[in-house]
Amino acid sequence: RAKQKGRNAWECFTSDINDEVSERMALRNDLQEAIEAENFELHYQPLLCARSGEVVGFEALVRWKHPVKGYLSPGLFIPLAEDTGQIGPISEWVLRQACRDMCRLAAEGYGRYRVSVNLSPLQFRRANFLTNLQQALLETGLSADYLELELTEGVLMTDTAAAVETLHQLRDMGVEVSIDDFGTGFSSLSYLKQLPIGKIKIDRSFVRDVTVNRHDGAIVQGIISMAHHLGLLVVAEGIEEAEQRDFLAAHGCDVFQGFFFARPMPLVKLQDYLKQWGGVPGRHDILPVPNG
Ligand code: C2E
Ligand code: MG
Ligand code: MG
Ligand code: MG
Repeated sequence: RAKQKGRNAWECFTSDINDEVSERMALRNDLQEAIEAENFELHYQPLLCARSGEVVGFEALVRWKHPVKGYLSPGLFIPLAEDTGQIGPISEWVLRQACRDMCRLAAEGYGRYRVSVNLSPLQFRRANFLTNLQQALLETGLSADYLELELTEGVLMTDTAAAVETLHQLRDMGVEVSIDDFGTGFSSLSYLKQLPIGKIKIDRSFVRDVTVNRHDGAIVQGIISMAHHLGLLVVAEGIEEAEQRDFLAAHGCDVFQGFFFARPMPLVKLQDYLKQWGGVPGRHDILPVPNG
């Protein structure tokens, strides 16, 4: 009987693995079709100046428009795409689309805004990364000053010498670089001082309990103070409550991002948003923006 049970468990286990494997293969095939059909959409989340409340830019966040499953979040397919190599064409699409959208906003009179694009470590390390980037800016007509790239700590910790070289070239081009999800990697803080970067983004996991957990409060204060002493700007991501915003403002955080202000939204929604909030200093300090 025990044997019988054991076998069932094993059969269950192997069939779970088979399900998982075939699920992944199906997703990979779907993703290939999505790449060919460009079935992706960028959503933009506003970044606000902590002092004036003005919109200072947007983060571009990719969604997969799946024919059956609807909008799929990047957490569900970016890691897969990194494993399969499909991240290459997806990144190319994201970068160009973000550049095109910013040019379009400017052309239609919404103003000039800087867009932050998340960069997969694999992209950053590619030999022709900078050439491709130049090409994308040239093709789309976006000036390099209006592009920011978000990198994670891990990228900069491995092969630091090469990473620093690439960062210098980006800086020479005029492209801004920020460190995303700051504090979640194994940050040896000493590496920060040798990096030609402009900003760090405090990870949402620290912001969440910043007002209720004194350790998180202390960490956030420490990060902000250290960053400022190094001449870096600080962005806080994942702000959902007024109390978090107030804490961050009181401790000198420079830029706010989070659902409290605005959720990521497609370009048409962003245009409506800018009609209401673009170039309106101070308003965001009073009111959150309800939207979905
Ligand atoms: P990230 O770069 O840290 O982006 C911020 C994530 O936090 C986004 O999730 C955003 O929707 C979410 N977020 C913003 N404010 C709040 C808030 O107040 N509360 C909560 N709970 N969440 C908030 P999203 O869009 O699902 O993206 C997840 C991750 O996927 C991103 O994290 C980024 O690492 C990656 N990603 C997104 N787009 C791209 C892309 O185009 N290329 C690459 N390589 N990665 C991407
Ligand atoms: Mg990001
Ligand atoms: Mg982030
Ligand atoms: Mg994050």
